[in-house]
Amino acid sequence: MQQRMYDVLKKYWGYESFRPLQKEAILSILEERESLTVLPTGGGKSLCFQLPALLKDGMACVISPLIALMKDQVDGLKDMGISAAYLNSSISLTEERAVIDSIRMGKIKLLYISPERLQKETMIRLLKSAGVSFFVIDEAHCISHWGHDFREDYRNLGIIKETFEGIRIHAFTATATVEVRKDIIEQLAFNDPETQIGSVDRPNLIYRVMLRTNIIKQITDVLMRHPDEAGIIYCLRRDDVENVSAKLNDLGFKNIPYHAGMTDSARHLHQDRFVREEVDIIVATVAFGLGIDRSNIRFVIHAAMPKTIEHYHQETGRAGRDGLASYCYMFYGGMDYRTWSYFLKNSPSRETMKAKLGAIYNFCTKPGCRHRIFANYFGQSYKKTSCEACDYCLNELEMVEDPLLLGQKILSCVVRVRERRGFGFGADHIANVLRGNSTERITGRGHQNLSTFGIMPEASIPFIRYMIEQLIGQGFLLREGEFSTLSVTPSGRELLSGDATPLLVKPMIAAKKKEIQKKAREKKERDWAGMDQKLFELLRKKRAELAGKHGVPAYIIFGDKSLKDMALTKPVTREAFAAVFGVGEHKLKIYADTFIQVISNHN
Ligand code: ADP
Repeated sequence: MQQRMYDVLKKYWGYESFRPLQKEAILSILEERESLTVLPTGGGKSLCFQLPALLKDGMACVISPLIALMKDQVDGLKDMGISAAYLNSSISLTEERAVIDSIRMGKIKLLYISPERLQKETMIRLLKSAGVSFFVIDEAHCISHWGHDFREDYRNLGIIKETFEGIRIHAFTATATVEVRKDIIEQLAFNDPETQIGSVDRPNLIYRVMLRTNIIKQITDVLMRHPDEAGIIYCLRRDDVENVSAKLNDLGFKNIPYHAGMTDSARHLHQDRFVREEVDIIVATVAFGLGIDRSNIRFVIHAAMPKTIEHYHQETGRAGRDGLASYCYMFYGGMDYRTWSYFLKNSPSRETMKAKLGAIYNFCTKPGCRHRIFANYFGQSYKKTSCEACDYCLNELEMVEDPLLLGQKILSCVVRVRERRGFGFGADHIANVLRGNSTERITGRGHQNLSTFGIMPEASIPFIRYMIEQLIGQGFLLREGEFSTLSVTPSGRELLSGDATPLLVKPMIAAKKKEIQKKAREKKERDWAGMDQKLFELLRKKRAELAGKHGVPAYIIFGDKSLKDMALTKPVTREAFAAVFGVGEHKLKIYADTFIQVISNHN
């Protein structure tokens, strides 16, 4: 059986080996054990059910919540020579009839349907007569209230088991929290299922988290590091999207905006243009991304802090699906925390969400290995001592030499100011007192007489503000109320008595920034070593042209990894082309000549 699995992998996908847990997930399906598989975005979930569908009699039925994704998946399968189809509200009656006929004739190996279709009597009858080999619940976290994408129409999927007695169900998701997992198992009425839980870690993603100062400048600095590469820039609000998008276009960074306030047709058009590689940069709210499978997204920028670590993990997870190095930059500010807190005010799950918000703010403000923090957050251990893929492990963060003393100075100032008047003050005021600025507010309240007045004369106001932000994020200070006043928390008391030490990062200075950019450039050069970049661009152009012609996303034709392999090995015969990564029998037949010609012309 295992040999057949490898044969099919090579024949259709053009791959040589399985990724972690794929083999186990496939065997669960082939050996008729119901299963739950959790793999991170880009982990290769689709192949886990597409491959066994080819090895089993009958038709596999995939329930998917995302209409856009269904079309892409089916287009991708067809491009590999696999007969697949989908049924959802987006297709015409004629198309629907044609699909139903093909199903009746036993011609379809994989059928994608939306969850609401499964509630229809006619659909149930059709599936019963077609002989379903197994059911797949894709994006299974949508079943759970605990997940961040709960969907009403996923609630009734429990009926599959009673309706289709004896046919196995297999659930797939990228969301690994224990509550979500438990919920999926319960709702699908699984009985002791096989569970494959992959590592949430994405080693090819390089994380950098920085304080927001001048956002347009910070974004353009990143864009200059990624010429001709694809990326998403996430903003918090629609207005920010419009604003950032327009400013970047003015500066010559061609991009398109995307947010829920645009018309449906404009949104679809922009999404399509990005997916087809007509444009490489999209500025968006988080409304953008679900169902975006473009595999060569090389960077994701967050212009503000996301809502939770789950969201951040998912949003950045859209980068580097093809496994190549990709970069995630986040620019946060204390304002983001306050904005999210405000949004949560009337939320029924306010307390849980507040804790989650605290966790992401802690992630932003407390230096530590970003990959380890993710793993631990999702209940997994992290074995490596250094991930070599985050600002902390790459030694890009410069630490304050005596963080305890600095923390004590700031906290004692907060205490003194409060003692004097019985109420607290905001971060700006505290910073002015520490620096010794005799502002009107200070002299008016007699704060120039406090023992903490002027004890940090050399520090700038932005520096002190940055330290305060980190002390808030690390739980030593609390900022609350209408006036964002500061107070010392119980952990802060420990800090004052020397029983706890904060970890404080200095603001990044220009020289350090230059050094990081230089290193990044060198790394890129190493990654491209031996590869003909000009040829790669020509191959990309050809791919975009074919994508436009066939009306499919470019990555469906070939991923960047395949194009890079071509730019490295420069195959000019069919035989050599067959050895390129991601070239199966069908792709060889339909694309070899076209791409070989580009390579020959260039040579
Ligand atoms: P997920 O659904 O888990 O986010 P996908 O199924 O979209 O991930 O797979 C991500 C990418 O990895 C796709 O381009 C896919 O073709 C590729 N891939 C999957 N399995 C393998 C494998 N065994 N070897 C090489 N590439 C793979």
